[in-house]
Amino acid sequence: MLRSNKTTEEWQALDAAHHVHPFCDHKSLKENGVKVIVKGEGSHLWDSDGNKILDGMAGLWCVNVGYGRKDLTEVAARQMDELPYYNTFFQCSSPPQIELANKLSEVTPEHINHFFYANSGSEANDSIIKFIRLYWDQKGKPEKRTIIGRNLGYHGSTIAATSLSGMGAMKKLGGNYLPEFEHILEPHYYMHGNGMTEEEFGLYAANQLEEKILEIGADKVGAFFGEPVQGAGGVIDPPANYWPRIQEICTKYNILLVCDEVICGFGRLGTWFGQNFYGIKPDIMTMAKGLSSGYMPISAIGFSDDVYEALHYSGVLANGYTYSGHPVSCAVALKNIQILQDEKIIDRVASEAVPAFREGLKSLSKNHSIIGEVRGQGLLAGIQLMKNAADKVQFEVEEQAANICRDIAIKHGLIMRAVDRTMVVCPPLVITPSEITEFLEKADAALTETEAYFGLR
Ligand code: PMP
Repeated sequence: MLRSNKTTEEWQALDAAHHVHPFCDHKSLKENGVKVIVKGEGSHLWDSDGNKILDGMAGLWCVNVGYGRKDLTEVAARQMDELPYYNTFFQCSSPPQIELANKLSEVTPEHINHFFYANSGSEANDSIIKFIRLYWDQKGKPEKRTIIGRNLGYHGSTIAATSLSGMGAMKKLGGNYLPEFEHILEPHYYMHGNGMTEEEFGLYAANQLEEKILEIGADKVGAFFGEPVQGAGGVIDPPANYWPRIQEICTKYNILLVCDEVICGFGRLGTWFGQNFYGIKPDIMTMAKGLSSGYMPISAIGFSDDVYEALHYSGVLANGYTYSGHPVSCAVALKNIQILQDEKIIDRVASEAVPAFREGLKSLSKNHSIIGEVRGQGLLAGIQLMKNAADKVQFEVEEQAANICRDIAIKHGLIMRAVDRTMVVCPPLVITPSEITEFLEKADAALTETEAYFGLR
């Protein structure tokens, strides 16, 4: 049953009257109205006009097991009946909270065995910033406070997570972000390669970390923070030698390595986590999104045994949220992980979906002069739009090329996201072979129409 007992115009008017939207251009929202989504099933959504749309973004990079899973809704309903809420403060716990932490220790890398819950990626990262500082206090090095992130890194929307992120536009809102955060170049070979081989660039980009540490002083740097593949910055996947070199530098200067696995976690790259894909061992990891496939808000921080030992001291760990480890969220996340395991979804991503998806994207780029490059790994891709790919001429920002392509794609029944001049794609992990074909056909049509719009065809 579609929960759309009103017309689209009625929904839009009601929405405009009382709902303040995040990450929206409010002027354009007023002029054009919201898109109202009323139902999801598998990899598809339906809007309030009854249009069926392929969700090439898995919501906000999160609906890994697809929409409409009755086994997840049943678990949620059962948990709500049994115990809809109890907290994890003051030496309390409940079965879903306990079972999820145990399940996480099974699926995360061997050295990560201790988990702290929050509700969102932003909150988890905000807490990690405090925990990094607590760790160094405990180690007798309280001056190791500076945290290094990357340009175009995204770690969330709270003041601390925005300070840690490398998103210039977000920092215009409010201004005065927190001190003791530094940023280095993002490992974007296509944009910054400058004639280097990919391997040379991988080392060059990683060595920016060493330079930054030497500039600040290793005795003042607490951690390096990065997404295995940068997502919201435009899907930036580094050369293969980048992460191992970053790990080496962190070890050399006694700096914690934090992997923000909010997008890459739970199968996105065809491995359980991005760190498995790149062969690194972070000290701390952030999980959210795919942890519950977005069915309930939940995030988790994973600590290595070493970091946990330092945090596990006799004082009160004075940090947490009312809904840290919400029982319904934990029960749903636990079931979601069981689904990933029982249905071998991540194996199928690696062996079937990824080869078809990447091969198809490669053919698209051969057929479209507007594509500069296709980036990314696994079921995570960035399609760089260029005015003239052969001469590497970019669109002007004002030309809004990606936004135009996104709007055309929607008309063709496909959701892609526009990030600067890149189309970003991140479909549900359960996307079927025929849905991959549907995605490629719709993306092809949208790119052709975008080329025609800009007189490139
Ligand atoms: N880290 C990464 C890598 C993300 O992509 C996001 C959200 N896109 C966040 C953190 C923040 O998560 P949330 O929106 O749940 O606060």
